Amino acid sequence: MSASGKPLALTLLGMLVAVGCGSDAPARGVVLVTLDTTRADHLGCYGDRRAKTPTLDALAAEAARFDQAVSAVTTTLPSHATIFTGLYPPAHGVRYNGMFRLVGTAPTIAERLRESGFATAGFPAAFPVTATTGLARGFDVYRDLFSEPGGKDLPMNAERKAEDTVRLAAEWLSGVGEDKKFFVWIHLFDAHWPYEPPFPFSAEFSDRPYDGEIAYADRELGKLFEVLHAKKMWDGVAVVVAGDHGEGLFDHGERQHGHLVYESTLRVPLLVKPPQGARAVVVAEPVTLADLAPTILDYAGVEAPAGLQGVSLREAARTGKIARRDLYFESLTGSLNYGWSPLEGLRRGSWKLIRSTVPELYDVATDPGETQNAIGREPQLVEDLTDRLQTSLAAWSGVAPKDAMVVANPESLARLESLGYAGGTTGGSAKDAPSPASKIHLEGEILHFRDLVGEKAWPEALAVGRRILADDPGNRFCLYKGAIAATQIPDLAAARELARACVKRYPDFKDGVVLLAQIEIRERKLDDAIGVLKAGLSTFPKDPDLTYPLAAALLAAGRGPEAAPLVDEALAEKEPVASFYVLRALMQARKNDPTAAMASLREAFAHGYRDLETLRTEPSLSPLRKLPGFDVALSQMARE
Ligand SMILES: [Zn+2]
Repeated sequence: MSASGKPLALTLLGMLVAVGCGSDAPARGVVLVTLDTTRADHLGCYGDRRAKTPTLDALAAEAARFDQAVSAVTTTLPSHATIFTGLYPPAHGVRYNGMFRLVGTAPTIAERLRESGFATAGFPAAFPVTATTGLARGFDVYRDLFSEPGGKDLPMNAERKAEDTVRLAAEWLSGVGEDKKFFVWIHLFDAHWPYEPPFPFSAEFSDRPYDGEIAYADRELGKLFEVLHAKKMWDGVAVVVAGDHGEGLFDHGERQHGHLVYESTLRVPLLVKPPQGARAVVVAEPVTLADLAPTILDYAGVEAPAGLQGVSLREAARTGKIARRDLYFESLTGSLNYGWSPLEGLRRGSWKLIRSTVPELYDVATDPGETQNAIGREPQLVEDLTDRLQTSLAAWSGVAPKDAMVVANPESLARLESLGYAGGTTGGSAKDAPSPASKIHLEGEILHFRDLVGEKAWPEALAVGRRILADDPGNRFCLYKGAIAATQIPDLAAARELARACVKRYPDFKDGVVLLAQIEIRERKLDDAIGVLKAGLSTFPKDPDLTYPLAAALLAAGRGPEAAPLVDEALAEKEPVASFYVLRALMQARKNDPTAAMASLREAFAHGYRDLETLRTEPSLSPLRKLPGFDVALSQMARE
């Protein structure tokens, strides 16, 4: 007899049966929790003695803890796209928040699991991962804050607190039938700026509110785990908890995240509880968040799509060991917004190469603060990693065909193409672009500038924009938005100067070209506007955003014969832009053909034109207002 009083043989048999089931049986369900903006080194189970994270610490005791989990990218949407697809950003095509959607060819784990009979639900907590980003693909239920009643009126920085997200997820779990397999994703956004933990964490962590937010999220996550225990779901369910990226907290001068790729924002917590649990396995070898998709599918017993860039961590979670690989990471935040250098890198063991206009190499084992750039000391390693990076990026450019990614705003796509990003590499970036690390001291001012522009506080925005430009004269965001602020004040001389500088430095940035032309037209510098637009058309041939103001400027300059073919060509398109009919009407009115002019105006309205304000007030359109019956016809057409 054993000490417990049961026959030893029976106990052993029972254990064998349990272990036998556990090693091979697929999970009944998978719970994926992403902890936004959460640094590994601010959790108790990662050695932070001041942390208050009992839920995660208890999970770590029955899970595998990955000590060196590396995010693929330090912004929320692309990082989640990597988690959901098992692909790096150059392959799934989502490089930054807002500008991108996950579309097309890359299947997500939610899709694969739903196809395999799993009930699927996602509970995103903030705007970067709203349903319109494409992340909702494959989810039966996607409780996006912004799709709920009244959600359209929410400010973009609205977030759902952990208690609400957990409550929604728990309600959904309660409705999952006993025999139904399930996959649920819970996104806890609390640790993201601003740091405002609720009471009692606000009091307990008054001197470090970021840690208070983590403590609060940990407590709420505990309630979700209690539900799983109470429903006897805990055993048999795989639980994966990961950060999407970290937070600067002023390491390397970065307050938040996204601009740099040091360990403060790149290293994330990763805990993986296999369905039957593990005994506090610690995996020291670096792994990537691209590994989560194949890992989750592996536990679910669902075959992973071919060509994933991550690998399953299931064996590593059992044994603590995994083969060394080169892990990719990037940040294009500064490059896409400000004209800074892109950051791309590889992690190999403890070595980390960051490629930019000022390349860096660190051994994070001996130099965890990444303060000793070893780029000159290890030429062979640098060459090897750089070659590998180059080869990988070239290969991925074939994985992400242009139509596999939709950019929410076409101007960004043009910008991406001009930089060579659209195909998946960053080969075309400017050689003299500042490295993000050399400009990170501007982060606070840039965030302030962004807020002022959002609030339409134009004079203040222009002043702050000018301060940033004094330090970073090529900052595209400040040149462009600064010019807009100046037109709103209005200070047209300042607007013209900033827009000209923007177009000179970024001739392929269409928004900048259009803005400069508009300013020149407002200043009655019609020949200048015509020159700017003609130059822009060499980059964007036949683009109506350029041909329309060009035709209008030509007409205003009395160069009607040059405008006519532009208008004819635009209206010969399959789906012509309605405002060109207005230009045609203007030309006909000038030629004393009121019947034809009114017919063209009717065409404009039939094609959706509704800009009555412009028709009634724009000085250059005054010949239209002299047409007989204009006012009556306009009111009538607007009603139809
Ligand atoms: Zn995030």
